[in-house]
Amino acid sequence: MKKLVPFILLFALCSLTFKPVMSATSSQTLAKKVVVLDPGHGGMDNGAHVGNVNEDELNLKISYAIKEELESRGATVYLTRSDDQDMTRRDYNYSKQDDMYLRALKIDEYKPDLFLSIHLNSASSSAWGSQVFYYKKSSDGERLAKCIHEKMKPVTGTRKNISSCGFYVLRATQSLGVLIECGFLSNANERGQLKNSRYHKKLAVAISDGIEEYEKSLSGPVDILL
Ligand SMILES: [Zn+2]
Repeated sequence: MKKLVPFILLFALCSLTFKPVMSATSSQTLAKKVVVLDPGHGGMDNGAHVGNVNEDELNLKISYAIKEELESRGATVYLTRSDDQDMTRRDYNYSKQDDMYLRALKIDEYKPDLFLSIHLNSASSSAWGSQVFYYKKSSDGERLAKCIHEKMKPVTGTRKNISSCGFYVLRATQSLGVLIECGFLSNANERGQLKNSRYHKKLAVAISDGIEEYEKSLSGPVDILL
């Protein structure tokens, strides 16, 4: 028994030494990737709103959840805005044009591998579901949208498909990006989910999984996905 003690101690020491290294490398799936998150609206522009629930506030909370998830996988993450102000940081003469112009500039400043504009939708009370938009002339954007959409589907239950668009933030930037409408605030059921921080975490994991899937697809066959 006495002879066994040094071996047990040695084994325990090895476990302590190697375990953190192994888990660190296996979880750093997005190491060296730079991602910009763009929480839509802010400040005087609340975006969609129902009662006292404002899109701009939830966009920011969801973006912080995504930031945390992406950073846990090794990515470097920047936000276009980190508080409840639009890009002009003025509290007078709100200009959507100025806000969007500065937003696009800031995204490109970071030279990201990709960016995500985070939004919430609003329409009739019966509309629901997440949707990912890509710039109509971007095949990489389409691929990224598809990867994220497929991972979000089990979480949001959406029956919508990805869609091409000409949104300014995707058109005016040099960087690869997609715009994600995470759900409809105008739908009572989905609004309840979108206010919940546990749901933000689920969205964050799904979106991060989608980014990983996109990165993997760059080195593998793409016809499975598209
Ligand atoms: Zn919006």
